[in-house]
Amino acid sequence: MNSTMMQVPLSLNHFLERAKLYYPKVEIVSRMPDKSLHRHTYADFHRRAKSLAEVLVKAGIKPGDRVATLMWNHYAHLECYFGIPATGAVMHNLNLRLFPHDIAFIVNHAKDRFLLVDDVLLPLLAQFAKDVSFERIIVVSLTGKPVPQGYEDYESFIGEATGDFKYVEVDENAPCGMCYTSGTTGDPKGVVYSHRSTVLHTLVAALPSGINVADTDTVLPVVPMFHANAWGLPFISTFVGAKQVFPGPHLDSDSLLDLYQRERVTVTGGVPTIWLSLLQTLRASPTKYDLVPGMRMLVGGSAAPESLFRGFDEFNLEVATAWGMTETSPLGTVSVLKSGMRTLSKEEQYGFRVKQGVAAPLVDIRLIGDNGEVPWDGQSVGEIQVRGPWVTGAYHEMPTSDSSFTADGWLRTGDVGCIDSDGFLRLTDRTKDLIKSGGEWISSVDLENAVMGHPAVLEAAVIAVPHPRWAERPLAVVVLRPGMSATGDEIRDHLANTFAKWQLPEGFAFVSEIPRTSTGKFLKTSLRETYKEWKWE
Ligand code: ADP
Repeated sequence: MNSTMMQVPLSLNHFLERAKLYYPKVEIVSRMPDKSLHRHTYADFHRRAKSLAEVLVKAGIKPGDRVATLMWNHYAHLECYFGIPATGAVMHNLNLRLFPHDIAFIVNHAKDRFLLVDDVLLPLLAQFAKDVSFERIIVVSLTGKPVPQGYEDYESFIGEATGDFKYVEVDENAPCGMCYTSGTTGDPKGVVYSHRSTVLHTLVAALPSGINVADTDTVLPVVPMFHANAWGLPFISTFVGAKQVFPGPHLDSDSLLDLYQRERVTVTGGVPTIWLSLLQTLRASPTKYDLVPGMRMLVGGSAAPESLFRGFDEFNLEVATAWGMTETSPLGTVSVLKSGMRTLSKEEQYGFRVKQGVAAPLVDIRLIGDNGEVPWDGQSVGEIQVRGPWVTGAYHEMPTSDSSFTADGWLRTGDVGCIDSDGFLRLTDRTKDLIKSGGEWISSVDLENAVMGHPAVLEAAVIAVPHPRWAERPLAVVVLRPGMSATGDEIRDHLANTFAKWQLPEGFAFVSEIPRTSTGKFLKTSLRETYKEWKWE
């Protein structure tokens, strides 16, 4: 027997049409380099994204071709998010924070044909232009200045469209976008998303038990559109018809707070670093900004300390954790309290909120230890493995025998953690960051979170450093809050009730700044190199 249902391919093109049909007046607001605000609507966005698609096809872009973007978060990037896939081609967003030679490597590996680039990023392009060979380079003038000689202007390019574009029909499993991992723990690897995977990811991410976005929301992704597609927020917002606000290149706390206030933002997303400095700014001038009460602040990308949740609660702003990877589109788990948990005390709720949460619907998760699957008892630790319709099953042009995948088809995430009886995942480390002291594993993430709970500590990264007796011991690299002081012993005393003695940091290095990766994570490879000859007392 066959099902009687239609075989309608899942496609991003449906989102674009929907935006025009049902939400034509909803605004898209972008902060420009000169800090002015550019405003247009979903009707404008629909017309311009289709114009982009039309002229790309006329310029010879075919299904499966890669078209790269090198852009901040703004309206034109959103047009690329939909205009490029509408041609059947693949939007490849480049991470502008990588070293130029890494960007060149990625462009060549992906075989990008065209580039769409912000004029303010042309100096960056100049640094790797000789190592790549785009057929066409189209420049978005964010400054309003004429684009330099030798480049094409985005407005003139899309201005040539006649408006009679017909979507290039592709299978729902055809590729629509690609991102490279930022290479925190190894070489960048390409992940290719399909229309189907992106649509399904969007449906689930928009749910109340996911990121929870509706047309009544105003969404501001601080997370860059080149980092795991800004966690899917542009797709989710367009799908539900939410107002979108883009910060452009201005990611400092005051610029963000100003935009939250002005545009009445209700949902935002970013890495812990961004939120830590935002909290500092709010604390310095608690009454300066009038934000929408209960604004949801999604945090992910690296572990967020409990102090962050408590801090924002004081301002009636709600931090919510999500865990994922470029490889998982990126939503893997979200920490949303289940119904019975809402009556728990605030303190008990923190216990769940700081965890990475439960797997999103349609994502399967398991923990694998030395002897196979480990139980969900909140204590047993194993490697986190996932599978699902928006989890990559391979890397672009890499051998399929890659050790990142298990023989039975799960993704090995390289993260370790435990899952409690409620299904809440707690990530304890990345495999490569674990500390093995005297044969026992110590979680660097648990220690970092606890060190950051000390009132004088702004940020802390804990790393494994070679030790003559114990093989490795934890070293805490600490940035103190401006004007505050604490000694290593004081911080250790602060942790003494929560950790066994052998788990406590053995040494403390006080610094003014912790080096970071292109996506704002602590650069632990570099810290391990810097401190590899630490003299233990
Ligand atoms: P990269 O692997 O280069 O860092 P990704 O942005 O894909 O690039 O990072 C995915 C990784 O980020 C995860 O494997 C995990 O280690 C970390 N991560 C993501 N979300 C969280 C979170 N909520 N808590 C802790 N770590 C997280």
